[in-house]
Amino acid sequence: MRVFIKTLAVTLAAVIIVAAVSAYRPVVDAGHGGFDGGAVAADGTVESELNLQIARRLEYMLYLLGYQPVMVRSDESALADGDTIRAAKSADLKRRVEIADSTEDGFLISIHQNSFGDSRYGGAQTFWSHEEAKALAELIQFTIRTQIDSENERAAKTVPQDVYLFKQTVRPAVLIECGFLTNTQDLERLGSEEYQLRLACVIAGCFACFDRNNE
Ligand SMILES: [Zn+2]
Repeated sequence: MRVFIKTLAVTLAAVIIVAAVSAYRPVVDAGHGGFDGGAVAADGTVESELNLQIARRLEYMLYLLGYQPVMVRSDESALADGDTIRAAKSADLKRRVEIADSTEDGFLISIHQNSFGDSRYGGAQTFWSHEEAKALAELIQFTIRTQIDSENERAAKTVPQDVYLFKQTVRPAVLIECGFLTNTQDLERLGSEEYQLRLACVIAGCFACFDRNNE
């Protein structure tokens, strides 16, 4: 772990100067929160909590790279409430869209966890929304596969058309489904500090590299 941090620090130091001039401002969205926990694993692990832990590490890495990330949420609360869960969920998502849209040069990075009926399926997968985000999604997916999860054979894809947040926001966006809560190996590593840190490094590093090519 210590060697990893050292290597990371050197890499980051090299990028900081370049990141001083940037095209985009990252808007980090930890999916779900508050009344909406998202997916729940068999051992009781709640998606919204993992999303927040990874998002906070990503926030820190982006700071190290010279960015001033906007955090959609920084604690376990939802962004809105309502008389019914449905109304609250709708208001919460609208608020997320507002935050992304009102951030000048905003680029939405949304953190979620997957789940599926068949526990064999695992591995992180990255999606993009708006054509200008495609290269970043592909870079993140490639880097996950080559640097932190050699068993991962997933490809980056476009966000499904019916996902409200990405349909509504005018900002380019990537959605990272960091792993499957229904897969034992994924669940174990997603809960570890080291794997969360590795994921955060990959996402932040890829963002800085992508951003540099766009400024
Ligand atoms: Zn989710």
